[in-house]
Amino acid sequence: MTLDTAFTGYADPSLHAEGLYIGGKWEAGSGIPVIDPSTGNTLAEVPDASIDDAMRAVDAAEAAAVGWRRAPPRQRSEILRRWFTLMTEHAEELALLISLENGKALADARGEVAYAAEFFRWYAEEATRIGGEFRHTPSGAHNILVDHEPIGIAVLITPWNFPAAMATRKIGPALAAGCTVILKPASETPLTAYAMARLGAEAGVPPGVVNVLTTSNPGPVTAAMLADARVRKLSFTGSTGVGRLLLAEAAKSVVNCSMELGGNAPFVVFDDADLSAALDGAMVAKMRNGGEACTAANRFYVQAGIHDAFVAGLTQRMAALKVGAGYDPETQCGPMITIKAVDKINRLVADAKDRGARATTGGAPVGGSGYYYPPTVLENVPTDAALAHEEIFGPVAAIYRFETEEEAIRLANDTEYGLAAYVYSRDIMRAMRVGRGIETGMVGINRGLMSDPAAPFGGAKQSGLGREGGVTGILEFMEPKYFAVEF
Ligand code: NAD
Repeated sequence: MTLDTAFTGYADPSLHAEGLYIGGKWEAGSGIPVIDPSTGNTLAEVPDASIDDAMRAVDAAEAAAVGWRRAPPRQRSEILRRWFTLMTEHAEELALLISLENGKALADARGEVAYAAEFFRWYAEEATRIGGEFRHTPSGAHNILVDHEPIGIAVLITPWNFPAAMATRKIGPALAAGCTVILKPASETPLTAYAMARLGAEAGVPPGVVNVLTTSNPGPVTAAMLADARVRKLSFTGSTGVGRLLLAEAAKSVVNCSMELGGNAPFVVFDDADLSAALDGAMVAKMRNGGEACTAANRFYVQAGIHDAFVAGLTQRMAALKVGAGYDPETQCGPMITIKAVDKINRLVADAKDRGARATTGGAPVGGSGYYYPPTVLENVPTDAALAHEEIFGPVAAIYRFETEEEAIRLANDTEYGLAAYVYSRDIMRAMRVGRGIETGMVGINRGLMSDPAAPFGGAKQSGLGREGGVTGILEFMEPKYFAVEF
């Protein structure tokens, strides 16, 4: 595998991937090009794992399973804590790597590395706090003792938009719980996952506890792993469409699933909101990661009295953003992940404009060799526009006007998704009431950023099943076992 460092200055050899990572060994290979979306150039090639390779990864995870589940929690904890420290020490190189393969602005990439590493620190702490339960039965006949056991080998599948954080948000709790894992990162952004595996080995993760493989054939490779009776868990983050397919596949052998799927977040601004705070929050909720976040504000519902001032303020801020290569330190909005992503955004914006929306800034692709789309604000968007119902996944803020609280809640809930929502109002009673009325797993109240390792992250409706992070995240990788005890 090669990594073209000539035009990027990326040169930390200790983080270069060497191939598939199975059973603590690197296996050279090629077949999947990794593209720099800032230029369209090929950065590297990574191996294309076959079904046989995946089954060898399951063998390796099984060989390591007993030792890892029996390792004292303190030992598992300290390995995770060392992994956190190593990620922190290598934060700058990891951020550059993320920026190179994903395209996100360096500031976003640095934020992601810090966020990602925190999952190792949080779960290093949680590893030593796994609890159980003791109860008397109402009849008095016996006692109820509930233990939590590691669920078994876990397959972890992650998307390209947070190449480090989506992996650590799964690996951290899985290892803390005592599970061994096979990580399949997105083919667009595998270098970060492989680099983190190197740091994991340095931190003392035993061979086979974490295996990493890339494949251009994820459907059959995943199906083969799920069909193997040794695999007891699938933790997936990605689109709702692929999530549905995987739930059906997992059903064949009744594999336990955690699903972190797509979003269509409403961002509701009431007349009494602090305008400047709402605009600050809107920029974070919309533009973190260039709009390529599952929690990204997809629909801005703004009450009539504040609407025009909000549109003017957001337009000014969006128009001022510097667009460029992710790893250019001046860049505030990097390229999209692929040209296909740009085409999708273009289609959604054209559809909205055809239905009467007006772009107050941006509104058409900029062209050039990378995959760029300019920060865009659309006003007068009709609620039947396609972008009201599909994830935009790009730097486009679509603004709708509303009159009443009931209307805002109804519009916010008019979607199959239910991941995140944002509400801005100085009236905290109203903000909480509206937050309760919106059917999502997470609500930001006067705040545009909600992700935190200590919080339960996840969605309602078709945005997912289960939660990652927080005190409950570790239970996704554990099976409760009830002992009926008479004494
Ligand atoms: P995707 O669903 O296309 O791919 C996600 C992962 O699944 C990748 O690793 C991909 O290779 C793999 N995959 C694709 N087809 C597969 C198949 N048939 N079988 C097994 N694996 C398969 O999603 P994406 O484009 O990489 O990521 C963007 C999506 O992820 C958006 O919908 C976004 O909202 C969602 N997302 C959700 C969260 C969350 O926490 N809820 C976080 C980040 C991203």
